[in-house]
Amino acid sequence: MPSCPRCQTAIESTTIQCPSCGLTFKAHGHPGIPLHRSDRDSQSLCATCRYDADDTCNFPQRPHAQTCTLYRSQNADLEAELPPLPLGQQVSEWLRRHRGAVALAGLLLVSLALVLLGN
Ligand code: SF4
Ligand SMILES: [Zn+2]
Repeated sequence: MPSCPRCQTAIESTTIQCPSCGLTFKAHGHPGIPLHRSDRDSQSLCATCRYDADDTCNFPQRPHAQTCTLYRSQNADLEAELPPLPLGQQVSEWLRRHRGAVALAGLLLVSLALVLLGN
């Protein structure tokens, strides 16, 4: 059975928050979204994250994230780590990670629509 890394209270794998010390284990209050946490306050998760290594992360907390929902170890097998997120959650996380590109694409579409409507 897992335990709280801060106070060692026994917890379930679906526990959202430690009942003893209040440490949060899941993001957005959802038992299916693990919140990864740096082992030491001084060390960023990004230092060992594959998305930092391949430069595909654009989260604002990078490169100093102490907690992150998308952290993936550089050494772990991506397929074997976690069950896939629900499709809606995958889309939501993808949009969060690529929000700059999404905003730019939206702006281009609006501009194109305005040009076409103006003719
Ligand atoms: S996904 Fe999270 S841990 Fe990984 S580089 Fe981005 S912010 Fe850092
Ligand atoms: Zn605790």
